[in-house]
Amino acid sequence: MNDLLSGFPPGKAVLFNGQGKPFEFITRQVPGLKAGEILVKTLYTTLCGSDIHTYCGRRLEPPHVVLGHEIVGDILSIDPAHSGKDFRGEAIKVGDRITWSIFSVPAGITAPRADMPQKSPSLFKYGHVLAEGDDVFNGGLADYCILRSNTALIKIDAAMPLKVAATISCAHSTVMGAIRVAAEISGKKVLVFGAGLLGLSCLAMCKEAGATAIGITDVDPTRLHWGEKFGATAAYAYPGVEGLPPGEGLPLPWPEADIVFDMSGNPQAMKMGIDSLAVGGCAIWIGAVFPAKPVEIDAQKVVRKLLQIRGLHNYNYEDFVNATAFIEDNYKKYPFEELIEKEYSLDDIEEAFAFASNSKPVRVGIKIGE
Ligand SMILES: [Zn+2]
Repeated sequence: MNDLLSGFPPGKAVLFNGQGKPFEFITRQVPGLKAGEILVKTLYTTLCGSDIHTYCGRRLEPPHVVLGHEIVGDILSIDPAHSGKDFRGEAIKVGDRITWSIFSVPAGITAPRADMPQKSPSLFKYGHVLAEGDDVFNGGLADYCILRSNTALIKIDAAMPLKVAATISCAHSTVMGAIRVAAEISGKKVLVFGAGLLGLSCLAMCKEAGATAIGITDVDPTRLHWGEKFGATAAYAYPGVEGLPPGEGLPLPWPEADIVFDMSGNPQAMKMGIDSLAVGGCAIWIGAVFPAKPVEIDAQKVVRKLLQIRGLHNYNYEDFVNATAFIEDNYKKYPFEELIEKEYSLDDIEEAFAFASNSKPVRVGIKIGE
């Protein structure tokens, strides 16, 4: 389509203009699609931990950004230059419900490694870019989202609850990446730091992958009750929490884990994770996505115990496909839907962010379409 405008009604978008400033509601015409693009009617967006960090000023985004990158919606229009197929090779059409990767690698750009497309130069990420002119439908907090060409998208069943479907494209895909990095889970003892959506998803994935012992710990003891519902065999209040009686915290070393996952980004927790590893164990860090103090590591311990530390940021295409399949297979088995503890409309976005940052629910959902 080469028209200047798409012919669809104007849409609303919510601009984040910096910490402490009110959100700004704007209405824009929907521009015509460029080659290979897809127009989506956004239905639901969940507020990811990164969005909350941005809102609170712990991480910096462009000065005017439409936040939200855990999004689900229905296809409204497909530019003829698009292949007409989803990432699994299935034909797509107007009206299909889809989830899509958080990033798009611009045409002509080569990834630093084939399995690391998320680290390509000039990468585009939904919910992370400057909103300018009519180019505002690029984040989850808007009526529409325009998918760039080269966005991996997957058609999903409309029967999947929106609350669950929205979380595939960040939380579950990132955790699936961590599972890939861990290599072998079957028969292993794993310990997960952080009982947010990432940690709870990790429990369920480890359970399904055949882990024999699955521990969960969090600074917020009220979150630990979720653990058992997602496959944990043990839950520990994180030590050092004021007011906890002695012995109520994580016993150290924890029955020597083969794999520890850090979803917290807390330097103390990452250190404790290393201390909890058995000989030959591996620590996988995915939570440290905001500035924090360096982690104090005893190098001798790493050497003598033959330990590994591996980091992962975002995910690759394989992780996205596997995470979508995991959720399709398991969203009824584990109570993922209950983790979106409160819902708001787009008009109540101030209230939604305030609640998310003050009350720290696992997730807050934003209903956008009907
Ligand atoms: Zn996210």
